[in-house]
Amino acid sequence: MNEITIDAHAKVNLCLDVLGKLPNGYHEVRMVMQQLELSDTITVKKTGRGKREIIITTNADGVPVDYRNLAHRAAQLMLGLDEILDGVEIHIEKRIPVEAGLAGGSADCAATLAAMNILFDMGLSTKALCRLGARLGSDVPFCIMGGTVVAEGTGTRLTPVKGLNGDKYTVVLCKPEQGISTGAVYGKYSERMGEMIARPHPDIVRLVGGMSAELHLSELKKDMINVLEYVTAEERPEVREIINIMKESGADAALMTGSGPTVFGLFENSSEAEAAYSKLSSRYEETVLTKLR
Ligand code: ATP
Repeated sequence: MNEITIDAHAKVNLCLDVLGKLPNGYHEVRMVMQQLELSDTITVKKTGRGKREIIITTNADGVPVDYRNLAHRAAQLMLGLDEILDGVEIHIEKRIPVEAGLAGGSADCAATLAAMNILFDMGLSTKALCRLGARLGSDVPFCIMGGTVVAEGTGTRLTPVKGLNGDKYTVVLCKPEQGISTGAVYGKYSERMGEMIARPHPDIVRLVGGMSAELHLSELKKDMINVLEYVTAEERPEVREIINIMKESGADAALMTGSGPTVFGLFENSSEAEAAYSKLSSRYEETVLTKLR
């Protein structure tokens, strides 16, 4: 096998809570993540030139193609592991908005690890790939595992759970024009931790129990809270505006994903989702209609 193509799926956070700051500087989180149908496509090809080179190409403007790209780091890690005497060309066809809270970079990283494992017949288990992935980014193990999980610790301790029914809901994603840095959002939240404690937080056990019992979104949405929204919405006022448009358009739930600034709406009624999509896409270029996985 000389070449392999893998889909790298985006995710949304059905809720996100920050519990505190760990001694190593990372934040302790507890959140529920579910994958979306929306994906980038990663093609990894052996160069066959006997040199450990890594060449990245992409259709997206502004995404680095050097060591800063998480797919590059993934390839470097894998080539180094088995001292493989070959290089790879990686093409990333990007559809996932960047700096959006959708784990686009982490998904590309996870897909590259999985692709290299197959291409070079490395025989690593999913668990081993997750352990390697955690060295590259805290969302990477989830992107390797997929599905729906509760993520704890720094986001790498994963428990698979039953997600929302993908057939039942249409998802509208809408990203304000300017992205936001994940680090900056956590930093701001941390500075204001005392004040943030008083704000509403999700009850994740209740949310997971409710999803498992297939409760209606009208029951679940009280726990579909992302505490980072408190900080990001101050920096990007469009977040509130988009949430309001989603709700006025009939969304059964609408909140921010990850550190944002993308907002997602879940619609049981697909015509309402399409109407929300048309309304938002006339104002915001990065608006996407997709499904839960
Ligand atoms: P998360 O939800 O995991 O916080 P995100 O969706 O907010 O991620 P990304 O789209 O992953 O953010 O991009 C964050 C930064 O990572 C970008 O500024 C970009 O320069 C860099 N980056 C590295 N590799 C990639 C990649 N393969 N695709 C997109 N961005 C990448």
